[in-house]
Amino acid sequence: MKGKIGLEEHFAIQETLGDSERYFHPAEWPMFSKRILDLMDIRLREMDEHGMQMMILSLNSPAVQAICDRKQAAEVARKANDEMAEAIARNPKRFRGFAALPMQDPDAAILEMRRAVKDLGCVGVLVNGYSQIDNPEVYKYLDDPIYRPFWAEVEKLDVPFYMHPRDAMPCNTHAVDGHPWLVGAAWTFGVETATHTLRLLCSGLFDEFPKLKYILGHLGETLPFCIWRTQSRIAREKRGVPAKRPLYEYMSDNMWFTTSGQFRTPALWNTIAEFSSSKILFATDFPFEEVGEACAWFDNCSVGDTDKQLIGRENSIKLFNLKNL
Ligand code: ZN
Repeated sequence: MKGKIGLEEHFAIQETLGDSERYFHPAEWPMFSKRILDLMDIRLREMDEHGMQMMILSLNSPAVQAICDRKQAAEVARKANDEMAEAIARNPKRFRGFAALPMQDPDAAILEMRRAVKDLGCVGVLVNGYSQIDNPEVYKYLDDPIYRPFWAEVEKLDVPFYMHPRDAMPCNTHAVDGHPWLVGAAWTFGVETATHTLRLLCSGLFDEFPKLKYILGHLGETLPFCIWRTQSRIAREKRGVPAKRPLYEYMSDNMWFTTSGQFRTPALWNTIAEFSSSKILFATDFPFEEVGEACAWFDNCSVGDTDKQLIGRENSIKLFNLKNL
C-alpha cells in the first residue's frame, strides 16, 4: 500500500541518544545511532522504498521522563521539539510530530504543550510513561492528582496523547530478576505500559475528561486481549475503583491502537474485533523495528482493502486532522 502514515517513529537528539544504547549490541550501535539521529536522507529513503508517505515523529525513550532536574527536563523537551519542528518545516509533506513534555513539572508541561501545538504545529503529545522527579527514586504515574490540570489542557487543546513505554523502575522489576532477556520490548515494556494505562482507566480520568484521545502502541500493549477479564473481576470486587463505567467502554470511546512493533496478523484481527478498524493506526517503531519488515507485513496481511486504507492512512488523517498532504 502506498501513502502509509506511521505513528510511532522515533528520533533522538544528542542529549537523549544514550538512553537507547542499552537496547543494542555494541556492534550495532554506530549504525543505529546514525539512523535515529537522522531526520533527512536515511529516513526518507526507507520511507520511499516501502510506501510510507509520512512519519509522525517522537523522541526516543525514556528521554525527558528520566531527567530528574525539572529545569533541565524542560530545556531538553524544548530543544527536542524545536529540532523536530525544523525537520517538519524542511519536509512538511513527510513529517509531523508529537511533542516531548517535561512532566516533572506539570505547569511547565502545560506551557510546553501549548507552545508545541500552537507555535510549532505539533499534532499531538507523546509521554514515555512515569516521570522521575527531583530524585531518581521519586517517580509519578500520570493518574496522580498533580496531573489533572495537565489532562484538562490536553482535552482543551484537543490533541491526541500517546502513551509510550519505558522500563519500569528497578524497584518494580523483581519478577524478571535473573532474566534480562525479558526486559524492555521483549516483555516488561508492555506490562509497565498496560499497568500505567489501567491506572488511568480506573482512576476516573475519562469520566472527568470524556473527550480525551489516548493512543497506545503495540496493538494496545495486550489490553485488547485482556480487558474482559480485568473488567469482569473489577465488576465483582470493586475495591473502591473510582471509574464509573466498564473499562472497555473508555477503551472504545477514548482509545486508539497502533501496530508499532507488533507485526502479527491474528493480534491485529483481535484488536479489530474488539474495537473496530476505525480505531487502529499503522506504525512501525522505527528505528527499533525495521520499516521494511513493518510495511511488508502490513501490505500483505489478511485484512480487507477498505480496512487497510483506514489503518494505513485514513484514520490518521482524521484523528490528527492532517491537511495539505
Ligand atoms: Zn517506540
